[in-house]
Amino acid sequence: MEKRSELYRGKAKTVFTTDNPERLILQFRNDTSAFDGEKVEQLDRKGMVNNKFNNFIMAKLEAAGIPTQLDQVLSDTETLVKKLTMIPVECVVRNFAAGSLVRRLGVTEGQALNPPTFELFLKNDSLHDPMINDSHVVSFGWATAEQLAQMKALTLRVNDVLSKLFDAGGMMLVDFKLEFGVDADGTIVLGDEFSPDGCRLWDKETRKKLDKDRFRQGLGGVVEAYEEVAARIGVPL
Ligand code: ADP
Ligand code: UDP
Repeated sequence: MEKRSELYRGKAKTVFTTDNPERLILQFRNDTSAFDGEKVEQLDRKGMVNNKFNNFIMAKLEAAGIPTQLDQVLSDTETLVKKLTMIPVECVVRNFAAGSLVRRLGVTEGQALNPPTFELFLKNDSLHDPMINDSHVVSFGWATAEQLAQMKALTLRVNDVLSKLFDAGGMMLVDFKLEFGVDADGTIVLGDEFSPDGCRLWDKETRKKLDKDRFRQGLGGVVEAYEEVAARIGVPL
């Protein structure tokens, strides 16, 4: 496998083509961004931690029968993945109220949500990732109704698997965001990443925030918190 040219430089990862047209390399950088790229900082070790964290989680999900992009870990910060045609829609599940839900609906942070909510956002930084609904997804052709139903079912299964995993490590999986794409066979596959950059995790006892809210809210100890989460669920760093 040979690394070829840079295809896309996102806010936190760089995507490279390879000599295999069905494979890409995701390189996890130390860049950390919030508020649609308005706040950006370099945090030591973050690329390495998120790459290893993501690979550990994707392997767990794959073992639970969820199709993921994961092919092969290449280095501390690089992973070979299936090339997907990404669906520009973010799938968000919430088990407890936090973040934009609290701001939008004026509910109390930490309120338990039974059953968990499922929300869709258009992936578009210049529009600040607006919330959308099922009919927007289908009418604008971002995904078919069938693909959307699969994305929702897979996201809820991911929630079941990961809520248990984090609970066993003494944490609450408050909410998270997933991105899906379509592979060469037309299968819906989990892409992008699952790391503390794209979810909220609180300590069960103290409710200490152990995720990117530490960066958003300037609480400090961002990568140290990610490393603590990794240690609690057994991610080898
Ligand atoms: P952003 O685009 O939000 O700034 P990143 O820095 O994480 O985010 O960039 C990674 C980009 O690569 C994202 O646009 C994501 O949709 C895309 N991507 C992630 N996984 C895959 C994949 N398996 N195949 C193709 N594109 C992918
Ligand atoms: N999220 C993300 N990328 C985004 C928007 C949200 O990873 O572009 C994650 C975020 O980290 C949280 C969940 O999705 O775990 C729900 O985010 P929310 O809608 O509360 O928005 P926020 O307050 O984070 O902007």
